[in-house]
Amino acid sequence: MKNTKYIFVTGGVSSSLGKGIISASVAKLLQQRGFSVTIQKLDPYINVDPGTLNPYEHGECYVTEDGAETDLDLGHYERFLNIPTSQANNVTTGRIYKSVIEKERRGDYLGQTVQVIPHITDEIKYCIKLLSQKKFFDFVITEIGGTVGDIESLPYIEAVRQMRWEMGRNCLVIHLTLVPYLAAAGELKTKPTQHSVKTLLESGVQPDIIVCRTEHHLTPGIREKIARFCNVEPTSVIESIDAASIYEVPLLMYAEKLDEEVLTKMDMPSEPKPDLRKWKEFLSKLKQPLSEVNIGLIGKYIELKDAYKSIVESFSHAGAVNDCKVNIVRIHSESLNEDNTKEKLSDLDGILVAPGFGPRGIEGKIEASRYARENGIPFLGICLGMQCAVIEFARNVMKFKEAHSTEMNSQTPYPVIDMMENQKKISGMGGTMRLGSYPCTIKKGTITFDIYHEINIHERHRHRYEFNNKYLKEFESAGMIASGVNTKDDLVEIIELKNHPWFIGIQFHPEYKSTVDKPHPLFVGFVTAAKTQRKLKS
Ligand code: GLN
Repeated sequence: MKNTKYIFVTGGVSSSLGKGIISASVAKLLQQRGFSVTIQKLDPYINVDPGTLNPYEHGECYVTEDGAETDLDLGHYERFLNIPTSQANNVTTGRIYKSVIEKERRGDYLGQTVQVIPHITDEIKYCIKLLSQKKFFDFVITEIGGTVGDIESLPYIEAVRQMRWEMGRNCLVIHLTLVPYLAAAGELKTKPTQHSVKTLLESGVQPDIIVCRTEHHLTPGIREKIARFCNVEPTSVIESIDAASIYEVPLLMYAEKLDEEVLTKMDMPSEPKPDLRKWKEFLSKLKQPLSEVNIGLIGKYIELKDAYKSIVESFSHAGAVNDCKVNIVRIHSESLNEDNTKEKLSDLDGILVAPGFGPRGIEGKIEASRYARENGIPFLGICLGMQCAVIEFARNVMKFKEAHSTEMNSQTPYPVIDMMENQKKISGMGGTMRLGSYPCTIKKGTITFDIYHEINIHERHRHRYEFNNKYLKEFESAGMIASGVNTKDDLVEIIELKNHPWFIGIQFHPEYKSTVDKPHPLFVGFVTAAKTQRKLKS
């Protein structure tokens, strides 16, 4: 019987070194060699999931097919591997403790004292192994969130120690560290790496491979020094140089032979080599665009790099398909009003109104929708963005003065966006939205159909409010039609404008499903429409 191999990716010295991208890159290289691979993220915080964290805390919340609200690294895993992840791919300390405490309350521990070791560590190990139990994987890659030495990471590192002991060569640890460049000394410094490996050793874990994030190339001398001080072979010291795009990292790791090193250490064949032709083709299109467009991203978290991660990445995929560079112009919705939209938005070839919650910046989003509608600019409204387009149309075309979503104004005379009936009874915030994949039926003869070329689609959701069907007929006769609906629950999922070249609002999040292998048709269509718009202008 074949055994699953377990690869752990830990981090040292600093956060934000790109553990998620390194994990996804190793996974991609192994996948392209023909192995089945999945990736998992273990997050040491106490929230049960990141769904209750605001973007300032944790960037975007990524949603899986099965409706799990997860860490944004899962987005990278899906975008690189093109295989869906699930709740099992993201586990937090909160989830581990919740499950252990539930077991204790049920009496499952038969009177034992419940302790971090073995009960919490057993639960962690159970979650790691669970991934390959339902469906076999050759490799399970587990990224441990945080940095070694953090108090909250300790049980995870202990679980890694135990698994290495139990599984021998079926288990491997990659440690990602920082090799800083001291400009004053003109040198790369290895000491932080040595210290971070020492910290890992204090917990009984010897890394097999050390990946060094660096701004400058590692010299052979630096590699040897790290190898000597950290008890690894020089071939196991891998350089991870800053790259212009995250999509270059798999190729950089291949050039550094990271995948070969993993396979050799795990007694696996290092032939055949990975087939990277498609990946390279994508990358060359990304790096050598033939045209460019400016797309406005209207949101209230524009200063945060990670808040709209999946949207930004979807534009990379769609831009490459279109041989087009997408310049994302981030515009704060709070800075927009009726008087300045022309000045702030007229250079744009497309306008995207972002998802979001709560009233801050909502009027600016509504104004941006108005500007796109009135000026024939390609428009994509995602979730709250779609709701803003509906509100704007109701107010300015249908003359429903003060139309709103009941999320923002519970007293509005025209609640064109309203809470779903089954949501009204719910009081808890965690995991209680309409989440995950739902079917949608697309109407033939619409722009939406021309984009998807399909009638039955599935898209991922994360919201509480919906288009209010009470007004649908009036909207349709005024020129805003429902081009996609959930027939089972009678919900409007997609709207478009009849008298506009490309104006689409979607209640779901297409950005969660765009991958390098399968760019999302809505983003591809949006960039194509923006290219046309640009040509018209010139
Ligand atoms: N706040 C809106 C709702 O809950 C939209 C959510 C979103 O944009 N993800 O329906």
